[in-house]
Amino acid sequence: MMKLNLQLFAVPFRRTSKTKKRMRRTHLKKEVGALSVCPKCGANLRPHRACSKCGYYKNANVLHVAEEKEN
Ligand SMILES: [Zn+2]
Repeated sequence: MMKLNLQLFAVPFRRTSKTKKRMRRTHLKKEVGALSVCPKCGANLRPHRACSKCGYYKNANVLHVAEEKEN
């Protein structure tokens, strides 16, 4: 195995502390996307999209969704 000469490229002067690492990563969290509520069935859905539960969009049934057998 080849031995790397670390002086050939930039090397961090000192180890990043866990506090500094965690402070940096506070901005890396994933954000929850926008949610709206279906006016017909009340399910959460993404805005400007037809409801995946009942196929409803803008006061019209635009999708044919198979009805659940629980009802
Ligand atoms: Zn719906």
